[in-house]
Amino acid sequence: MRLYNNLINEIKSSLNHSIILPESKNSLNVSNKNSVIFLFDTAFELGGSQKPCVSTLAVSSDMTFSNSVFLQGNDLNEIKTDSPFGKFVFIEVEDFPDEQDTFNKIKELEALRYHLSVDGFMTRASTLSMREQIRVSKKAIKSGVTFSDYGNALLKEYLKFPYVKSAELYFVTDFNDFEKLNSVAKKISQTTSALNHIFDNVMFDCSTCNLKEICDEVDGLKELHLKNIKK
Ligand code: SF4
Repeated sequence: MRLYNNLINEIKSSLNHSIILPESKNSLNVSNKNSVIFLFDTAFELGGSQKPCVSTLAVSSDMTFSNSVFLQGNDLNEIKTDSPFGKFVFIEVEDFPDEQDTFNKIKELEALRYHLSVDGFMTRASTLSMREQIRVSKKAIKSGVTFSDYGNALLKEYLKFPYVKSAELYFVTDFNDFEKLNSVAKKISQTTSALNHIFDNVMFDCSTCNLKEICDEVDGLKELHLKNIKK
């Protein structure tokens, strides 16, 4: 699966102020049920108060990632109030001969953000938007939890899937070009929608399809639809 490669590269080159975070010092508990953090227990919300917020996940079968967490902007201990927030997850997956298999894995990996709960963090994500807001508890901040701790807890969960070979996670609390990142994340989301459309066995008729713009831009989508029709 190479459909997302150019988009991954575009995001990585836009995050040119990000730094690689040191190894995590705190191992955070992770459960499969999203925890509830009430407002009075919340130190701040990443992406809260309508601040710029974007989140995306993209896979590749021929890009290798460093199994590291990166940060552009302030770490958790430096944030005092609701802040802009970006989260970008890149995952190297096994090269399945059938693209439908890869698509099923993408759905499985995407679903993780609705199921996973890291101690001290509450995710508020919507399937309809690319926003992923995270409430951070006062307790977590008091105990000195960092993005490295949070990111490494998430990375470990992604790396547990047998078909995941490597991964990278980028957090952003200071955007130098939010509109650009938001637009590339939108293209990633549209590419996944096109795959959904293709594997739903919908008719191949680009003249009436609302995904034409993304299929014109991302190499390989139209060919994939054609190949799938012929099966
Ligand atoms: S290839 Fe054409 S019909 Fe298929 S998803 Fe893209 S625009 Fe739609």
